[in-house]
Amino acid sequence: MSEKVRCLIIGSGPAGYTAAIYASRANLSPVLYEGIQPGGQLTTTTEVENFPGYPEGITGTELMEDLKKQAEKYGADIRTGIVTAADLKASPKKITVDGKTVIEADTVIISTGATAKYLGLPDEAKYAGMGVSACATCDGFFYRKKVVAVVGGGDTACEEAIYLSGLASKVYLIVRKPFMRASKVMQDRVEKNEKIEILYNTNTLGLFGENGVEGAHLIRHKGEANEEKFDIAIDGFFLAIGHKPNTDIFAGQLDLDEVGYIKTVPNLTSTNIPGVFAAGDVADPIFRQAITAAGSGCKAAIEAERYLSE
Ligand SMILES: Cc1cc2nc3c(=O)[nH]c(=O)nc-3n(C[C@H](O)[C@H](O)[C@H](O)COP(=O)(O)OP(=O)(O)OC[C@H]3O[C@@H](n4cnc5c(N)ncnc54)[C@H](O)[C@@H]3O)c2cc1C
Repeated sequence: MSEKVRCLIIGSGPAGYTAAIYASRANLSPVLYEGIQPGGQLTTTTEVENFPGYPEGITGTELMEDLKKQAEKYGADIRTGIVTAADLKASPKKITVDGKTVIEADTVIISTGATAKYLGLPDEAKYAGMGVSACATCDGFFYRKKVVAVVGGGDTACEEAIYLSGLASKVYLIVRKPFMRASKVMQDRVEKNEKIEILYNTNTLGLFGENGVEGAHLIRHKGEANEEKFDIAIDGFFLAIGHKPNTDIFAGQLDLDEVGYIKTVPNLTSTNIPGVFAAGDVADPIFRQAITAAGSGCKAAIEAERYLSE
């Protein structure tokens, strides 16, 4: 016999835990599966300074432990387990956990997040939290009046470079190709920005520094006759080469955009399948912040409650 629940939440980031707080306080007795990364992405960072309510800042791990405690306090059933399959079109929806346990759910809130893409250099892991970041909005403040590099040639990279130019003294934009993928308007903005220096045809070979990033080893025109290796001195290295939403198991059922983000009804968390809601980074190609994820988790729980009471 499979277990039957009214509200199943997939993922334990700010979106999932916030949905669990609201759903448990609405008497939906939610069950939440934490997945491979209990607490979500914020557990990989040190200080979080922009989550409202913490004037002194808080570590990512403490913040997530607090959210978890708050959800448990109101009765959310938080479990270890990874959702490995989902039949969302069934009624009730059938969710398989760890390849064996099947849960039948009247409503499902998907909050599985999105993972930033990295270049795959060993130095990215070595300097994680010590100068390497995939989020200018989150970490740019730590680089005021310092020199940073942004990797990428799309609109996001341009946006990150422009944002950082408002804080840092200089921004290198490292673009692999001889041109950018970004829209013309974004390219123009970057090119006109006196603080941004664009390095075309350039790849990153590695990073260096004693107690954090102090510079990057770069190569220009890799593999060509005019290949040239050189170093730049930087304090921060920002990746802006895209994110991968964690939606593989829902493909073919939920409407996804071309990158894989779940499409929701504008201003809501409802998806194309009644009773299935998407909250947090998994449905947000634009903001990807803890507070926006938490806000949409709140919306998802309220929508689930209204769906169940209809
Ligand atoms: C290094 C770093 C620093 C950051 N700093 C800040 C900051 O200072 N301020 C800020 O606002 N934002 C910051 N962010 C961004 C912030 O962490 C995210 O916007 C936020 O965590 C998104 O929350 P979420 O709930 O959507 O998903 P996530 O936090 O990504 O959580 C996703 C959850 O889904 C689970 N999951 C995935 N697949 C499955 C599955 N198949 N079954 C079950 N569970 C699954 C995972 O285990 C995880 O618990 C930072 C991000 C990073 C990586």
